[in-house]
Amino acid sequence: MHFEYSPKVRDLLGRLERFMEDHVYPAEHEYHDFIEHSDNRWVIPPVMQQLKARARSEGLWNLFLAKFDDYGSGLTNLEYAPLAEVMGRSFIGPEVFNCNAPDTGNMELLARYGSEAQKQQWLLPLLNGEIRSAFAMTEPAVASSDATNIECRIERDGDDYVINGHKWWTTGAPDPRCAFLIVMGKTDPAAPPHHQQTQVIVPMDTPGLKLLRPLRVFGDDDAPHGHAEILFENVRVPVGNRIGDEGQGFEIAQSRLGPGRIHHCMRLIGSAQRALELMCARVEHRVAFGRKLSEQGSIREDIARSLCEIEQARLLTLKAADKMDRTSYKDARDLIAMIKIVAPTMAQQVIDRAIQAHGALGLCQDSFLPRAFANARAIRLADGPDQVHMASLGKAVIKRYTA
Ligand SMILES: Cc1cc2nc3c(=O)[nH]c(=O)nc-3n(C[C@H](O)[C@H](O)[C@H](O)COP(=O)(O)OP(=O)(O)OC[C@H]3O[C@@H](n4cnc5c(N)ncnc54)[C@H](O)[C@@H]3O)c2cc1C
Repeated sequence: MHFEYSPKVRDLLGRLERFMEDHVYPAEHEYHDFIEHSDNRWVIPPVMQQLKARARSEGLWNLFLAKFDDYGSGLTNLEYAPLAEVMGRSFIGPEVFNCNAPDTGNMELLARYGSEAQKQQWLLPLLNGEIRSAFAMTEPAVASSDATNIECRIERDGDDYVINGHKWWTTGAPDPRCAFLIVMGKTDPAAPPHHQQTQVIVPMDTPGLKLLRPLRVFGDDDAPHGHAEILFENVRVPVGNRIGDEGQGFEIAQSRLGPGRIHHCMRLIGSAQRALELMCARVEHRVAFGRKLSEQGSIREDIARSLCEIEQARLLTLKAADKMDRTSYKDARDLIAMIKIVAPTMAQQVIDRAIQAHGALGLCQDSFLPRAFANARAIRLADGPDQVHMASLGKAVIKRYTA
């Protein structure tokens, strides 16, 4: 594995870092203030549209996407990793460059499995950043870390599917620009467990689709994107809205989650790196008991430990990305599980140390840290809880060493 970036990546990285410095970090307060002071929290701050237009005009757009028609950067996962890390340094960064979850996963899914009509109707507007989308799998009634438990029913009725179910934690569904959901449900509960599910596209304005409420993460609704609890009551969509074949939903979900997981890890490394830099700046200027905090041994230890942990996670992420590029998602599965276990906990711990070093400032809305902490903590659950990845990794390792 080479540790040098190609000239193309160096160029993109330089431009991306400059864009973040010149436009994204300075806009963070304006973005969050707009939501705080708005009567309606589910409105997109105008600065986001301005940033997106500028990023697109500078060619910093859809960098995550290997290639689709005229879209995408053609970058490998290994090449994309340092770019995603830089975007992940800001909560608003990924969206500015049209590289935000869950849309990235949905775009990759539609590019790979979507019909021509679905690509025209849903993928192109997503690639152009005109609409947003969400992915509805998790349900309140069942342990959704085991996707075979999903109970939502998708039943064929002539040329339509009729959907009945109850979902929650559908990230991005409350966003006013969210035009459709990809819904996972069962078309054949009698089939073998991994062939019961199917995925269908459900436009947000379909009768019977009811947004019950936005859910809060540690009390924050994450407006204007949010996470919705949703009821599907006799929701009817044409059969042409099915993605792939009936019974292929589980397989499609797995192929969607692979890149999605590693992208989360790349962004979390950026988030942890920024927390470390903020921590260093803070302790160098803060004096307590007659000394700068940066002169305290325990603070230096926290900083050194954080740097080691970030670099370990970064290298493991690059290794997983490299293996994905050179082999397949399936062959890189263990490395992806490893990094999904390691990176969110690493980020959570590094950000927690940074919060401690900041004192009370580290917990309030004037700081980047609370939102970053909540995000890292949430990703220990989202896209598969830590324990699920450990269970499958442990099983694979035992098999390998006892074969
Ligand atoms: C911020 C956020 C955003 C999300 N976004 C989305 C989204 O966009 N779309 C979507 O569909 N879902 C989303 N989710 C839901 C997320 O994917 C699920 O919460 C997750 O899969 C776990 O499912 P569950 O909550 O039903 O927990 P359960 O399945 O009830 O599991 C509870 C706990 O049991 C433990 N556990 C499970 N299996 C094992 C095991 N084998 N060994 C040991 N312990 C185990 C784990 O600690 C686990 O956390 C989001 C969640 C959060 C917090």
